[in-house]
Amino acid sequence: MTAPLNPEDIRALKSLISWWEQSGVEALPPLPAPKSARPAPPPSMEARATGAQARQAGFGAAPTQNGRAMAQAAQTVGELKQALDAFDGCPLKATATQTVYARGNPQADVMVVGEAPGRDEDREGAPFIGQAGQLLDRMLAAIGLNETSAYITNVVFWRPPGNRKPTDAEIEACLPFAERHIELVRPKVIVFAGGISAQSLLHSKAGIMALRGRWHDYTLSDGTMIPALPMYHPAFLLRRPQEKAKSWQDLLSLKAKLAAL
Ligand code: URA
Repeated sequence: MTAPLNPEDIRALKSLISWWEQSGVEALPPLPAPKSARPAPPPSMEARATGAQARQAGFGAAPTQNGRAMAQAAQTVGELKQALDAFDGCPLKATATQTVYARGNPQADVMVVGEAPGRDEDREGAPFIGQAGQLLDRMLAAIGLNETSAYITNVVFWRPPGNRKPTDAEIEACLPFAERHIELVRPKVIVFAGGISAQSLLHSKAGIMALRGRWHDYTLSDGTMIPALPMYHPAFLLRRPQEKAKSWQDLLSLKAKLAAL
């Protein structure tokens, strides 16, 4: 018989589960049934229909839509959201609950671009509203920024299952929309939250450790340069609070840049 857990074990277990949840780990799927010696039955009509429907919807098939043309046709941030809703070229859309677009003021001087929605964002339909988002809000507030003076979005618009990192193909599919988003907002300053958005939008292979701490130029299609500051992702800071001092330096650099505009 198994001995009952004592209160200290229960507290430790709860804390471990909460840490897993914060890291995006969810209940594990049931284990697969043991393999039988018999060959697998052919797919059911239902499974075949689902595959056909998925192909019809554009998932897993060669892209039938030109994401760049769809993104370029949008003339406002509202039209860009409509274009994303009609776009079926990113397989993440099939598993996500909804498109996660932006929050804040599209007329703001500062545009923050993160990685991809997590569980809370997928549920609520707004970026950076979970634990990492709350830290991001506190970081912005520390230099006087809020949803009126900042606009917050991601480079990927659908949640990767289990909060895994988006693949290169998924980022590639979303990139025309992320680029058009920046073009339509035309912020005075861009903040890249984390390596994924910095690398994909600056077309750099350098890691966030090398990219953060200095200003880069983000170039719009008409040649306009926007100063861009890569920073550590707030989710990274939750795991490594000892790195917050560097982010504080970055925030001060952002504040000085805004004061100089
Ligand atoms: N992490 C991100 O990069 N974006 C979100 O919206 C939430 C968490």
